[in-house]
Amino acid sequence: MMNNLSDKITLTHLNKHAVVYIRQSTLRQVLEHKESTARQYNLAKKARDLGWANENIEIIDEDQGLSGSSSEKRSGFKHLTAEVALGNVGAVFGLEVSRLARACSDWYKLLELCTFTSTLIIDEDGIYDPNNFNDRLVLGLKGTMSEAELHFLKSRMYGGKLNSARKGELRFCLPVGLSYDSDKHIVLDPDQQVQDSFKLLFKKFKQIGTARGVVRYFSEHNLQFPSREENGVMNSPIKFHDLTHGRVLSILKNPLYAGAYTFGRSVVEHDIHNKHKTKAQSIDRWKVLIKDHHQSYITWDDYIRNIEQLKINRNKRKYKDQHGVVREGKALLQGIVYCGICGRKMTVCYGSWKERKRIYYLCDFERSKLCGKTCQYMKGNEIDKAVGDLFLGAVQGNKLNIAIKAIEKLNEEKKTLLEQLNRKLERARYNAERAKRQYDTCEPENRLVARTLETQWNQNLEIVDAIEAEINELKVNKAFQITDKQKKQIEQLAMDLPRIWYNKKTTSTDRKRLLRVLISDVTLKRNDTTAKVAIRWKTSTITNLKVRLAQKECDRIRTSSKVIEIIKELAPTHTDAQIAEELNERGFVSGKGNKFTKKNVNWLRNDRKISGGCPEFPYNLNLQRGDGMYSTRGVAQLLGIKIHQVHYLREKGIIVGQHKSKNTAYWYDITNEELEGLREIVRRYKWRDK
Ligand SMILES: [Zn+2]
Repeated sequence: MMNNLSDKITLTHLNKHAVVYIRQSTLRQVLEHKESTARQYNLAKKARDLGWANENIEIIDEDQGLSGSSSEKRSGFKHLTAEVALGNVGAVFGLEVSRLARACSDWYKLLELCTFTSTLIIDEDGIYDPNNFNDRLVLGLKGTMSEAELHFLKSRMYGGKLNSARKGELRFCLPVGLSYDSDKHIVLDPDQQVQDSFKLLFKKFKQIGTARGVVRYFSEHNLQFPSREENGVMNSPIKFHDLTHGRVLSILKNPLYAGAYTFGRSVVEHDIHNKHKTKAQSIDRWKVLIKDHHQSYITWDDYIRNIEQLKINRNKRKYKDQHGVVREGKALLQGIVYCGICGRKMTVCYGSWKERKRIYYLCDFERSKLCGKTCQYMKGNEIDKAVGDLFLGAVQGNKLNIAIKAIEKLNEEKKTLLEQLNRKLERARYNAERAKRQYDTCEPENRLVARTLETQWNQNLEIVDAIEAEINELKVNKAFQITDKQKKQIEQLAMDLPRIWYNKKTTSTDRKRLLRVLISDVTLKRNDTTAKVAIRWKTSTITNLKVRLAQKECDRIRTSSKVIEIIKELAPTHTDAQIAEELNERGFVSGKGNKFTKKNVNWLRNDRKISGGCPEFPYNLNLQRGDGMYSTRGVAQLLGIKIHQVHYLREKGIIVGQHKSKNTAYWYDITNEELEGLREIVRRYKWRDK
């Protein structure tokens, strides 16, 4: 049959190259399907039989282990098309058309090029000339069949996988912390240290609420976290490393730890450049989800809660209706306080950075994000106290056994830490023991090796020492020890929630957590010196409070306006001392709560610019007394001269001054007639010109 068809091969074809294209889809096929590969190489012999000279036969086999579904990564196929396009190829040899291309787009491109350059295509079945209509039809069909074949292959494989996944039987590489037992069931990792690490991680996230917080906890306590030496390789040895943020996130997001068996949690999407990326799907679009499938670290509900918490942490703006995590600051309403004007969540800031004693609640969104003004702000200490009192009033009578729980928690914490360290110690001791054994078995002649092994042994011993020291330190650490006496004290405290609330040892975080048990959120609206506080309870009922806000320090000690009124009233006829006496008699006190003195009243009059009519009034304040006498300053102003010039005139006897005693001020009785004369005298002195 071949001979009959070989008349399609002309001398032109024979003078050009014969290209034998060889490909196997996967490396496994390359290794296992040796027969098929041998058949493909045999095509070179066929080319020789058909008349091609040895030097004209080219074998392209660089695409071994690559799928024919796309030409993207197949450099061999690209080389082939280029050669064909240049007209260097007489015939392309392939075992079957599917070896050349599994995608129609690639196949037709090649076919078209072969048509233009009159290149033959030869497979096991025959010789095809793409310029011949019938041959072209057959080749087209073969290409389509080849692509369809790949499609059926893939869908059959995927269908099989999906089927066993639906039954929860499809096995895959498990993440650290889980493993298969002898019956192929998923169980917690039998390594107790690994198990404890995971349990601690989930527990800490529940307590702290942020992935970063968990990382901080691990690093502060010098704890390491297990991971595989080689990623994605089952039974790869486990190593302990520092815990990273990304690792915490991936563990929290993995439903396997919650006992759920899943399949199809993500889909692969191709972009225009044929690059693919994996896109995670929402839970309702997962192909398979079997809850309570295997042993787990957390429940499914815990898993959902963790995911929700991560969402809230990630995007506070988007989830602004949700409560933020309880933080360590003193402000009781942090995370649950809203603005009564614009409805936005209010933020917290503190008066002094170090002590954080003064708390402020402010609605700052417009200023910080939109360059507008601060909506409102107010001091928070009084509001916190009012809300705290309301909360305590609400739980009065409920004897909460919080303190006992606190002790348990503390002890538990210590226990967990000790357990973790003991596991670490066990492992370190094992490593040291193994290093010793290796050293012992080493031949003495092998000195270099022996030295390395000895160093390793020493290093391991050092690690053991360090961990032992850490354990001892933890054991003597008094912070974790509670004496019976202390225990009794705390038990007594537990009888009375208010005492726990006000206890200095209770942290702000604890108070906030307690508060959130009953209170949903609080809305604030400031009205000058008071704030309207609306408290929404978890039961959706609302309590309204009116809280007097703390005044500024200067406002707090300001003298009352009533006192000022009285001073104004008495000033023309009374001395400062008399006014002070009068005020004290009437029972008034100064802003600081003291009795009034002559000095006080004098200061107040000066400050409020209240003039007096009494000779005892200071000369520098009054220009003219009630009885018409002028002070030195008054005379100076009348004549338009300096004060010392008035004294000069008095000493010269030009004007007459009177004073009560040597140390009191002079007063001058000047009539209107005298004034004209005095002005004339002053003019003669020419003081004004200078
Ligand atoms: Zn606002």
